[in-house]
Amino acid sequence: MITPLHKYTALSSAMDIELLIKRDDLYPLTGGGSKARKLDTIFADALKKGYDAVVTTGSNQSNHLRSTALFAARFGWKSIMVIHDKEPSHYQGNLKITALTGAEIRFVDKTEVKDSMDKAMADLRELGYNPLYIWGGGHSVQGAYSYYKAVEELKVQLGPIQPDFIVLPSGTGTTQAGIEIGIRQLYNDCQVLGVSVARNTERGRQAVYESMNELRQYLNLPLTYTEEDVFFDDSMMGAGYEDVFPELERVIKWAAQSGLILDPTYTAKAFLGLKSYIISGRIKKGSTVVFWHTGGLLNLMSSQI
Ligand SMILES: *Cc1c(COP(=O)(O)O)cnc(C)c1O
Repeated sequence: MITPLHKYTALSSAMDIELLIKRDDLYPLTGGGSKARKLDTIFADALKKGYDAVVTTGSNQSNHLRSTALFAARFGWKSIMVIHDKEPSHYQGNLKITALTGAEIRFVDKTEVKDSMDKAMADLRELGYNPLYIWGGGHSVQGAYSYYKAVEELKVQLGPIQPDFIVLPSGTGTTQAGIEIGIRQLYNDCQVLGVSVARNTERGRQAVYESMNELRQYLNLPLTYTEEDVFFDDSMMGAGYEDVFPELERVIKWAAQSGLILDPTYTAKAFLGLKSYIISGRIKKGSTVVFWHTGGLLNLMSSQI
């Protein structure tokens, strides 16, 4: 499904670039975001294969769990969510929606995720269901493929405009992998800049590279890049995944004054990256930049900001 591509004039002037924002935060599912886009492809495939239940995993404020719970409920599937977090006394944001769908939630320790997911699969089979197993974050070749297709969607929206850079937040690397393969097919001179939300550069870049290879083989495309060609920057995440540091809070408030709402877990880190690349000269003044807004509104609403 198509999301808008918006021009941000005030931010473009303030940052000395042509800034376009791909609004996947508006993807048509409650709460929107990149996980909804990935799951659209994953569920379309799974529905053809006759599944009727799902097991997956994430944290309390996982966009992936909320999106999976919504898709599953819509199709009348039973779902078990393995959450590697402590149960909070008050449910907010993504967790509130996940729970409202009636998904069964099992809170476990980080070390028990795999066993607990296997147990959930066995429990569902025992009840007569045919459960689908989805990795955390929707990390899969279908997930990456949905972003390969999204680049084709972007190309139609850009028309004659040539993008110089795509900037996006990167976690498991699936989104970046799909965009990397798509951009390499359609725009020779455009560079993809992935900004890490949790992983260090070495691990994150390797995950993007592996996911690219998986998608490339699925699409029967030749290998035309190396792992070193993948840009994955781990310098914008403070102390880690859910750390809200002062600079992050400042950039959220700054962008909001020009009509761009970012979240502290994902998109604000990527936006900090974008600002720093303009200052360092990696992104030259006057460049056309597509910032891929992957969602996160519910992460902002459940944060302390
Ligand atoms: C999960 C998520 C990401 C990271 O996507 P990956 O494909 O795991 O790299 C970025 N932004 C938002 C809002 C997300 O929910």
